[in-house]
Order: sequence, then C-alpha cells, then structure tokens
Amino acid sequence: MLHLGLVGYPLEHSLSPKIHTAALRECGLDGDYSLFPIHPDDEDGLKDLLARVRSGEITGINVTIPHKQNVIPFLDELTPTAEAIGAVNTIYLRDKRLIGDNTDADGFLLDLKRFIGNRESKIANQKSALILGAGGSARAVVYALINDGWNLAIAARRIEQAQELASYYNDVESIELTSKIQSFEFRLVVNTTPIGMIPNINQSPWPEGLQFPHQAMIYDLVYNPRETKLVKDGCAAGLSATTGLGMLIEQAALSFEIWTGCNPSRDILFASINQ
Ligand code: NAP
Repeated sequence: MLHLGLVGYPLEHSLSPKIHTAALRECGLDGDYSLFPIHPDDEDGLKDLLARVRSGEITGINVTIPHKQNVIPFLDELTPTAEAIGAVNTIYLRDKRLIGDNTDADGFLLDLKRFIGNRESKIANQKSALILGAGGSARAVVYALINDGWNLAIAARRIEQAQELASYYNDVESIELTSKIQSFEFRLVVNTTPIGMIPNINQSPWPEGLQFPHQAMIYDLVYNPRETKLVKDGCAAGLSATTGLGMLIEQAALSFEIWTGCNPSRDILFASINQ
C-alpha cells in the first residue's frame, strides 16, 4: 500500500488529492494521498512528517507554500534541479537517503510546449520572455526557460527581488513591475505572481492601460479561477493565453512517476479535477 501526500499551509483548496487518487487508480496501484497542513512556524511538525518518509511509512510527499525551502535543511540530498532552483516540491527515500526534487520546472516547460504547439518553429529566433514576479515559482520558471534557450527579463514590484533572481544567470534583465515594461518587446509573458487568484479574480498583474506586446503569448501560472483576468484580457486583445492548470497536472504526474514508476494519462488527470 502506497502512502503519498502533500505538505503545505493552508491546503483546503488543493486539487492534488483528486489528481493523485486518479493516478493511483489509473496505474492500478493500492494507495492514498493525504493532506498534511503544517503551520509555517511548526518546525517539529515538519521534522516528524519527514521522519515518517525516512522510516518508509510514507512513500513520498509533495511540498507547497510555505515549505518549499523550509524542508531543505532536513533532507540528505537535493537533485541538481532542486539545487539549481533552490526549492523542493517532491520528497522520497532512495538508498536510505531522503531526496528533495523539483518537478515544477519540467512541469511548466512540458505544458508551455503543449501551449506553444506548432508555433514553436516560428518563434525559434525570437525566444524572449517577460516573467512577472520573482518568488518561488518564478525560480522554477526562470530555470526552465533559460535551459530552453529563452532570453529573459524579470519584472517584480520589489526590483531587488528581481535583481537577486536575475543574478544567478547571465544576461537576465530585471525591471520594476510598472509601465516600464512597455519598452520591451516579448513573445511570451509568464505571470508567476498570485494576482488574479480567487478571491481577487478582478485583478491582473498587467499594468492597467498598458497594451500587451504585439504577438505575445500569455502563460498565467494561476489556475484558480479556470480563466483569470489576465487570460481574459489577453484573449480579448487577440493573443493566445492559458492558465497554469496544465502545469499543475504535469508537475503532479512527474512526481507520481518518480514515486511509483508509472506515467499516468494526462487526460485522466485533467478529468479528475472536474469531478
Ligand atoms: P511566492 O513565492 O509568494 O511569490 C509571489 C511573487 O509575486 C513575489 O515576487 C511577490 O512579490 C509577487 N507578488 C505578490 N503579490 C503581488 C502584487 N500584488 N503585486 C506585485 N507582485 C506581487 O508565490 P509562488 O509560489 O511563486 O506562487 C505564485 C502563484 O503561482 C500562486 O498563485 C500559485 O498558486 C501559482 N503557482 C502555480 C503553479 C502551477 O502548477 N500552475 C505552481 C506554482 C505556483 P513580494 O515578495 O513583493 O510579495
């Protein structure tokens, strides 16, 4: 029997149990996926949970806000991806060692490629992207895009946060998230801020009154609501735009494969969240 789960805080609205329960069923595996809400200040709670993975009682756990960095000191090893991103979203035991991995970057890139589809060859020489926000998910997105050959600029309301993230890479620009972003021309805009998330569904991270870059594609990591204001405004301006639901599914499927060796059908995982 496999015991899987998610640690974070708060977790009430998490879609992960539905996704992973569907994956277990599809792969014919006996198991469950539990939520472990652990308060940001509860270091002992976090250590106790990790001890249950170390003992083999729990097969694997996903990690979300606010623990993606908090867990690192209690692990034995990080994969190169988790190390480069500086955050962990997947934990498992291998050869008695507690390993921290990160599937957000690959999950984002796989879904971005699905979204770009047959436009990929057309933009081959114009891979320039603007990242809105410079928090935890921006780290995974920047890592993924740099490795896929994109030129990047990071826009954050605190310029020093954008500068700090940009400093890990060569030739990544940092700008304030204001109308200053107008002076750049991008083929892709990625929102990594929580702006527009339920309940603030009438908000958009895109500065008011500013035109979108000509021919840009918009990828909004926010997936709750299913259509964000940024996505709606982008579509209304004639652009292609998507939320991050596909990334959520991909990162979950990649974690599931790490724990079980089974690669679940994405269609079945998508269907599970509408049930
Ligand atoms: P985070 O670490 O808290 O980072 C959020 C970033 O957004 C920070 O740079 C923050 O700046 C900025 N920000 C927050 N409110 C802002 C505002 N009102 N105006 C301008 N900037 C603002 O959060 P995260 O983990 O990156 O998550 C961000 C969003 O991505 C969440 O909605 C999350 O659900 C979503 N997400 C989706 C997926 C997926 O699979 N689709 C995966 C990961 C995350 P400050 O530091 O100045 O506040």
